[in-house]
Amino acid sequence: MGTATLKKGKEKILQSKHPWIFSGAIDKIDDVKQNGETVIIKSFDGAELALGAVSVHSQIAVRVWSFNSDEKIDKIFFENRIKTAIALREKIIDQNSTNVYRLINSENDLLPGLIVDVYNKYLVCQFLSAGAVFWKKEIVGILSELLKPKCIFERSDSESLVKEKLEKNVGVLLGEEPPKLIEVKENNLKFFVNIKSGHKTGFYIDQRDNRKLLREFVKDKSVLNCFCYTGGFSLYAKSAEASHLTNIDSSSEALTLITKNFELNNYSIDNVENIEGDVFKLLRKFRDENRKFDVIILDPPKFAESVSQVTKAARGYKDINLLAMKLLNRGGFLFTFSCSGHISQELFRKIVDDAAIDSGRIVKIIRQLTQSSDHPVLSSFPEGLYLKGFICEIY
Ligand code: SAH
Repeated sequence: MGTATLKKGKEKILQSKHPWIFSGAIDKIDDVKQNGETVIIKSFDGAELALGAVSVHSQIAVRVWSFNSDEKIDKIFFENRIKTAIALREKIIDQNSTNVYRLINSENDLLPGLIVDVYNKYLVCQFLSAGAVFWKKEIVGILSELLKPKCIFERSDSESLVKEKLEKNVGVLLGEEPPKLIEVKENNLKFFVNIKSGHKTGFYIDQRDNRKLLREFVKDKSVLNCFCYTGGFSLYAKSAEASHLTNIDSSSEALTLITKNFELNNYSIDNVENIEGDVFKLLRKFRDENRKFDVIILDPPKFAESVSQVTKAARGYKDINLLAMKLLNRGGFLFTFSCSGHISQELFRKIVDDAAIDSGRIVKIIRQLTQSSDHPVLSSFPEGLYLKGFICEIY
C-alpha cells in the first residue's frame, strides 16, 4: 500500500477527526500507482495514523476513509458504512409517506465524495472524489445487493469535479434506463423529478423539513415563492390551503414541471401564477406596483461558490431580503435561506439583521432552519452544514 507522510506536527489534523488532508500538510506521497487508491497516513516520524484515498490532482490530497489504521479498506468496509447510512434513514424517514431522500451524504456519512439519493425505486449517485471513483464498481454492487433498485443512475456532473480534475459522468450504471420523469412522494405529496438533467440529482431534497414547516403559516394566505424550481414549497402551500400563490423562477422548464406537479396531485391551478423571470427585478417591480404578500419564500441558488465571492453574495442576499421584507403585510412571514457553504450561519443572520434595519420593519426571528435530517452533519466536519435559514415575522 502507498503512504502519505505528514509534515512535522500535522498529525493534529487527524486528532480533530476532520476527514480532509490538504496537500500543504503532506511531506511526501510514496508508492501510489493509481489516483484514488488507498494510502496509509503516517506522521512525520512514521507512526501509522489512518487510512485514506489519495487524490493526486486535488488540493485535498487525501480524504480519510478510517481513523483506525488497522482497518481494511475493502468491499466489506464499504458495505458496513453503507448499511449504517441505510439504518439511519430507516429511523428518520417515514417510508410510507416519503420515498425521496438522501441515503449517503458524503463525508457526513463517513464516505467522502459519495452522494446517493433515493428517488422511489431509482438511486442517483455522485462520485465526487478520486477515492469514491476508485471504488465505484464495488459501491454500485453493494447498493444493488442491499436495495435492489430498478436503476442506479450516475449524475457525476457537479462543478466540484473540475477542482478534483475528475471526468464528468452521467448515465445508467445498473438496471434499466429511467424515464424522463420519475414520480416520487414527499410527505404524501407527489412530484415529478427529472433525475437525468434536473438540478443537483433532480430535486432539492434538503428542504423537505422546511417545506413541511411552511404548512403551518399559509392557510388562507397569499404566498410568493421566489426561486421556486419545480414548486416544492408551492405544493406544500397549496396542500395547506394557501389562497393565492405566485411562483417565480428563471427556468421555464422548472415552471412547466410546477404545473405538471399540481395536476399530479389533483390541485387546481386557479389562483396560481407562474412567472418566468429574475427575482431581483421582479421584487423591484412588485415594490413599484405596491403589491403585498402574507408569506414570502426566498430560496436562492448558491450565491457564493468560493470565499472570494462572499462579499458580493452577501450584497445579493441582503438585497432580496430587504425587498421581501418591504413586500410583506403586517404580521407576514418570511422564509429565507442561504445554501452557500461559505456564508456562515452568523454571517447570514447578520445579513438578515441588516436588511431588517434598512427595511424599516420590525423583524422577529421565530425559528432557525437547516437542512433536513437525512443530510446529517459530521461534528468534525463543519463544511457539512451548508443550508441555513430563518423564519421571520414581519411588522
Ligand atoms: N426552493 C426550491 C429550490 C430552489 S433552487 C425547491 O424547494 O425545490 C434555486 C432556483 O432558483 C433554481 O430553480 C433556479 O432556476 C432559480 N434561479 C436562479 N437564479 C434566479 C434568478 N435570478 N431569478 C429567478 N430564479 C432564479
